[in-house]
Amino acid sequence: MADLVMVIEDEKEIRDLVRYNLERAGFRVAVAADGEEGLERLFASRPDALVLDLMLPGRNGLEVLREVRDEPSTRDLPVLVLTARAAEMDKLLGFERGADDYLTKPFSPRELVARIEALLRRSRPAGEPAVLQVGALRVDTSAREASYRGRALALTPREFDLLAFFARHPGRVLSREELLRKVWGYDYVGETRTVDVHVRRLRSKLGGKDRAIETVTGAGYKLPALAKAGGR
Ligand code: CA
Repeated sequence: MADLVMVIEDEKEIRDLVRYNLERAGFRVAVAADGEEGLERLFASRPDALVLDLMLPGRNGLEVLREVRDEPSTRDLPVLVLTARAAEMDKLLGFERGADDYLTKPFSPRELVARIEALLRRSRPAGEPAVLQVGALRVDTSAREASYRGRALALTPREFDLLAFFARHPGRVLSREELLRKVWGYDYVGETRTVDVHVRRLRSKLGGKDRAIETVTGAGYKLPALAKAGGR
């Protein structure tokens, strides 16, 4: 599936222009006209990149950017900021984790598409293929789709992230603490049960009893390097 780009921009003409050009370049596009709606749609649809106008009614672009960076699931989302004035960049530069790139209005739509393509290339961990295959488990980190024994899995965003993390580390014992830190992205001391709950749900979606994800007593969990292929 094509990468999804979210566009938060209140000026309809610019929004339409950006959308038109991104779609023509093969992207899927979701749009929002203000920061509030944008954040809501962003957390629901989990895009691959964000085009963010700074001057927005209500919550401005800087506030939106701060929320995006504070949330573990979107912390590393590639963000291209649109700004009308170069002076606005000063504020952005004061940010610890700000935008990944920016364009000053007016901009060339073709330039915008090129920048988004570059951001998406950079955002993929070097050398990591988009599709991870471990035995009968297949995880497509680009399309955010997973299947097991050829059957598509309906996963929540967090379940997907957890399964993808297992698929990146086949055969390795992963402690609950490490999973919390790497998948949830923050210290969640004393809440390692959260991991157990999610692993349980993953197992049941993977088909229940054959334990595609193994429990390693006293240590954590493991996805066997050769996840059971079954029936072959
Ligand atoms: Ca604006």
